[in-house]
Amino acid sequence: MRKYGKIVVAMIGAACLMAQPVWAAAPDFGKPGWEKRDWVDVGQDNSMVWMGDSPGTAIAEGQVARAEGGQADSQASGAEGGQPDSQAAVAEGGQADSQTAVAGGSQPPAEVAGDGQGASVITVGGTGQQNAGPAAAQEEAEKAAQEAARQAEEAAAQEAARQAEEAAAQEAARQAEEAAAQEAARQAEEAARQAAAQQALGRTVDPSKPMVALTYDDGPQPSVGNRIMDCLAQYGGKATFFMVGERVGSYATEVKRMVAEGHEVANHSMNHKYLQKQGVAEIQAQVSRCNDAIEAVCGVRPRVMRLPGGGYNSTVLANTHMPMIQWNIDTLDWKTRNAQQTVNSVLGKVKDGDIILMHELYGATGDASMTIIPELTKRGFQLVTISEMAAAKGYSLEAGKLYSSFR
Ligand code: ZN
Repeated sequence: MRKYGKIVVAMIGAACLMAQPVWAAAPDFGKPGWEKRDWVDVGQDNSMVWMGDSPGTAIAEGQVARAEGGQADSQASGAEGGQPDSQAAVAEGGQADSQTAVAGGSQPPAEVAGDGQGASVITVGGTGQQNAGPAAAQEEAEKAAQEAARQAEEAAAQEAARQAEEAAAQEAARQAEEAAAQEAARQAEEAARQAAAQQALGRTVDPSKPMVALTYDDGPQPSVGNRIMDCLAQYGGKATFFMVGERVGSYATEVKRMVAEGHEVANHSMNHKYLQKQGVAEIQAQVSRCNDAIEAVCGVRPRVMRLPGGGYNSTVLANTHMPMIQWNIDTLDWKTRNAQQTVNSVLGKVKDGDIILMHELYGATGDASMTIIPELTKRGFQLVTISEMAAAKGYSLEAGKLYSSFR
């Protein structure tokens, strides 16, 4: 009995594996001795494992509990070994209807095979599909296997595609990050280069290096002043323009350019009167009116002044209320009107801290500047404004005092 019981178990198991869709229904828990608590569902195919210690009245070792159409019969097909008492419900050779795939209905059949070890494998049916022989079951199983393989392949392909997409997105993000970092580094480098270039052009005065102050009086005079500023821009130099107040309104554009390009706008009295011949009130008026005029045009109020003709006395010194800037190199350009002589007067004796006197009114002075500016730059002089040079040399410009150089 035990031997046949095991064979039955094996055969039923094989049938279950091959024809899962066929077997599906709940066991008849109402049958005497079958209690629902004794069954544990182990899968969607309704395969059951009976977990009870005792098989109960309906299930005995090696015995198949069959219920077909309400009959607990069909004990004849287990013709293995010629033992009729083998109560297997498994068909052999495809014969015998409903012995493998047992039809259910209102009374679901069950095939039970006990192994005598306290656990029995039960397969219950109930799909209503009858007479599904082993061949059909095999076909079903093959189809199912093919479908499973197809689904697995599809799932693998989808997963691979998903991973590839994710990897591509990560790579794109990484590249974008890297590009942003490179761009930031490039911009920082460019900013540093521009700062260095600006410093090289004289934006920042280096006190340890020689410098001179080019000063142009009596303007503004655009025909000369703009040439001078063009040349200074080319070499990164700055100059100081001592202007006559009564002229600035007529040449506002040039005065604004001076400010825009970093040159110093300075006071040279309102009407170019010799202040040493004026009284206190006029001295003060000549100075303050000129400052007002320049400030009105360009927005900058001059911080230094130059006395017309350089003339002064104690009254002048006491009443301009501004630092008065003289010179230590007089080109006499107003007198010679000769560019070469002006050039020579500068280049022959210029030293660090010098203040060079020229006049903006004369074309020859403009010509001379076209030589002086490049040559001084070439010699290593920084071309600076009066205020820049005073600061660089440690002078505090004070009202009422005269400055002829910053050596
Ligand atoms: Zn003058």
